Amino acid sequence: MIAVDGPAGTGKSSVSRGLARALSARYLNTGAMYRIVTLAVLRAGVDPDDAAAVAELASEVDLAVGFDPDEDLYFLGGEDVSVEIRGEAVTMAVSAVSAVPEVRTRLVDRQRELADGSVAVVVEGRDIGTVVLPDADVKVFLTASAEERARRRNDQNVESGLVDDYDAVLADVQRRDHLDSTRAVSPLRAADDAVVVDSSDMSQSETVARLLDLVEQRAGASR
Ligand code: C5P
Repeated sequence: MIAVDGPAGTGKSSVSRGLARALSARYLNTGAMYRIVTLAVLRAGVDPDDAAAVAELASEVDLAVGFDPDEDLYFLGGEDVSVEIRGEAVTMAVSAVSAVPEVRTRLVDRQRELADGSVAVVVEGRDIGTVVLPDADVKVFLTASAEERARRRNDQNVESGLVDDYDAVLADVQRRDHLDSTRAVSPLRAADDAVVVDSSDMSQSETVARLLDLVEQRAGASR
């Protein structure tokens, strides 16, 4: 079990997918699970800041996720929502929804079930090494400066035809960092035994190579 945590915009998903591919492992994106619950909240017309209503709705959400690093399979009530969960409405509301303790308890249970098995799995999120899989074999905390993360995300936006607005992207990165690292339950932080990898000056493939090294060192150490 490999845990990859870190703030928004580090390229964590691309790197985790690359690592899973290189290891022929499964890939589990826990942020997508919080996004699916958030979409259900928005669709039901529930206020994301109404913690009691969010908790109630979260107990009934029917969600399913895939494990393939090469395919986005995210379902809400059997409907493929993999595009919609990346939209702005969900991105704006997801930090509030993921701060609700009942939401976290339910999703953490699901994540443990999904990661539990004999096959290798790369699990990415914010609290994987600290809470979800404290016994993970390898724990990585992937980070990069807020400016570099905003620059990368804005470049991606421009490539996919969205507006070029670095300042707005930087403000969003800082807003989510703040909300995720100051929430009462499972705040974003590196596990004490995680290896912190700063990818500010590393390409994606260099970062995957660094993580593969860590996995190999760990496998060597336990042989
Ligand atoms: O990884 P992604 O940016 O898609 O995650 C969306 C949001 O879900 C994060 O900003 C955070 O609020 C929440 N999240 C979380 N715990 C996780 C994964 C994501 O709280 N393990």
